[in-house]
Amino acid sequence: VQKIVAMPTLEVHRTLNLLADAILEKNVDLSSLALVGIRTGGAFLAQRLGEMIQIRTSVAVPVGILDITLYRDDWTRISHKPQVGKTELDFSLDDIDVVLVDDVLFTGRTVRAAMDALTDFGRPRRIELAVLVDRGGRELPICPDFVGRTLALVGGQRVNVYLTEMGRTDEVVIETA
Ligand code: 5GP
Ligand code: MG
Repeated sequence: VQKIVAMPTLEVHRTLNLLADAILEKNVDLSSLALVGIRTGGAFLAQRLGEMIQIRTSVAVPVGILDITLYRDDWTRISHKPQVGKTELDFSLDDIDVVLVDDVLFTGRTVRAAMDALTDFGRPRRIELAVLVDRGGRELPICPDFVGRTLALVGGQRVNVYLTEMGRTDEVVIETA
């Protein structure tokens, strides 16, 4: 397996700070802002963005977690079935500006399922999408509002987002089988 470090630690940190800045620039009314991360990577990143926003503004915006699992039942891409699992949202979504956060955006099916789940919980005023890595390959008309890094992968390559919360060094690594 050949490994290429696409984003070393400092680049991950710099990029998250830029994402926090961009989210704040587009969301002036912090009293109606919430972050919702998609477990597991997105949930860790949402937590971090929340801390960065708190450092900048002294406002602790609510951070929630959605558990969306993609069942790749027969490994044909079209059959990816996102299943909504346990969700931790201890605040109301009504009239809130939600920034959905995930580590990697690929087909868009997870985000679609996440949006369905969010709208089951309430009626957000607006939902935006922030991702650390956009690896292309969309199968649905979903476009992120905030992107850390766009990666063009060739066949057989995978991207791994490692985070300290998982017992790793913060890093984005492209692996070629
Ligand atoms: P999608 O539903 O857009 O196809 O895939 C997005 C979800 O699957 C995200 O929650 C993301 O964590 C995971 N994912 C999809 N592709 C990759 C990938 O290449 N690397 C990693 N680390 N996660 C991926
Ligand atoms: Mg994920």
